[in-house]
Amino acid sequence: MATINTNFQKLASGYLFPEIARRTAVWQKAHPEAKVLRLGIGNTTEALPQAVCDAMKQKIDSLGNRNTYTGYGDEQGDTYLRDELVSYYKRWGVELQSTEFFVSDGAKSDAANIQNLFGSDNVVAIQDPAYPVYVDSNVVGGRTGLFNKERGCYDGFVYLSSTEENGFIPTPPKQKVDLIYLCSPNNPTGSVATYDQLKAFVDYAIEHKSVIIFDSAYSEYITEEGYPRSIFEVEGAKRCAVEINSFSKFSGFTGVRLGWTIVPKELECENAEPGVLNAMWNRRQCTFFNGASNIAQKGGYAALHGEGYEQSRALVAYYLENARIIREGLTNVGLTVYGGVNSPYIWAKTPNGMESWDFFDLLLDACHVVVTPGSGFGPAGRHFVRVSSYGHREQVVEAMRMIEENLKI
Ligand code: PLP
Repeated sequence: MATINTNFQKLASGYLFPEIARRTAVWQKAHPEAKVLRLGIGNTTEALPQAVCDAMKQKIDSLGNRNTYTGYGDEQGDTYLRDELVSYYKRWGVELQSTEFFVSDGAKSDAANIQNLFGSDNVVAIQDPAYPVYVDSNVVGGRTGLFNKERGCYDGFVYLSSTEENGFIPTPPKQKVDLIYLCSPNNPTGSVATYDQLKAFVDYAIEHKSVIIFDSAYSEYITEEGYPRSIFEVEGAKRCAVEINSFSKFSGFTGVRLGWTIVPKELECENAEPGVLNAMWNRRQCTFFNGASNIAQKGGYAALHGEGYEQSRALVAYYLENARIIREGLTNVGLTVYGGVNSPYIWAKTPNGMESWDFFDLLLDACHVVVTPGSGFGPAGRHFVRVSSYGHREQVVEAMRMIEENLKI
C-alpha cells in the first residue's frame, strides 16, 4: 500500500504566483477593456545578449553535424564552463576549485534540492520575508510542524525578521539552528548585506557547526561599492556555506535555464568532515541529474567574459534604470520604498497599515498594475508589496503614470 509524504499536506496554500495570476485573471475578465500592467513576477523581458545568442547558435550547428555532435556531458557541468566560473570568482578575489562548482538547470531546483543533504531533524532559520522555495522545500523535507494560521508561519522554523529597523538584514539567531538560508541582494526586500553583516552569520555558523545556504542570484545587480557579491569573500565562509547562483537575472536565462552551486571542499558540519558534503552533492548530481543543456552552457560561458559579459551588464543596467523609475514614481505618490538600487526589486510599504493583499487589489483595481503582496513571502511582508523592475521600459513608465494619476492614499 503506497502512502503519500504527508509533509506535502502541510504546505500552506497555493504557490504565491498562481494566486496572483488567478486574481488578475478574474479582474481582467470583469474589465476586458483594461490593459493590465504586470510588475509582479520576476521574469525577464528583454532580449538575450547577442554574443550569448551567437554562442548558442554555434553549438546548435555543431549538434546538427555527426562529426561534432555530443550527447550527455558531465553531470557536474562542462569543464570549460566550470573553469570559466573559477576565473569569474577570481574577479571578486575568491579562489575556488572547478570541482567545487556544480552547473545546474537553474538556482530554483538547487535551492529546493540542497536540503536533501541534511538530516530531517535539522532546525532551519529563514529570513522573513524570503523566496518561497527555501520554506516549501524544508516543509516537504519534514523539518517543520504545521502551518500556524494565527502567526502566518510554520511551527518549527526560526524566522529571522527583516524589518525597517534592521534595514531588512537580520542578525544571527539567539538560539542554536542548523541550517540558515540567506539571500543577498535579497528577494523580495531588495536589501543587500554588508561584509560585517555576513561575517556575523559566518562566525555564528562556525561556532554552532551550522551551514549557510547563500543565494546570490542577484549578485550582478550590486552597483554600489562595499557589498560582497559572494559569501566566499567573507573569511571562513568556505567552512560553513554553500552558494547558489544563476544566469537567469544576469543574462536573461529565465527560459534558457542555467545556474550553479558551489559546495566547497572545506565545508563541514556536525557529522561531516571537510570533503564529505562536496562528495555527497557530487553523488546526488550524478544519480539524480544528467547535466545542464549543452546549448545553455555555451551561452553561459559567453555571458561570463568579453562582449557577452558587457552585454549582460547592459541588460542589468536596463532593469536597474526601470527600478530607479519605479522608486521615483512610488516616492512621488508618497509611498515609502526600499531596495531597487542594488537589486531589481522595490519593497514598498503599504499606505495606512493596509494588508498587502488589500493593497494588491487596490493597485490592480485603481491603477491596473499587478505587484506581489509581501505576505506571500512571509509574515514580515504583511505591510509591503514587491514591485519588480522586470518589464519593458514603456510598460514601467505607463505603470508609474497610472499610479501617479489614480492612486489616492
Ligand atoms: N533565487 C532567487 C532569490 C530568485 O529570486 C530566483 C528567481 O526568481 C531564483 C533563485 C531562481 O532562479 P533560476 O531561474 O535560476 O531557477
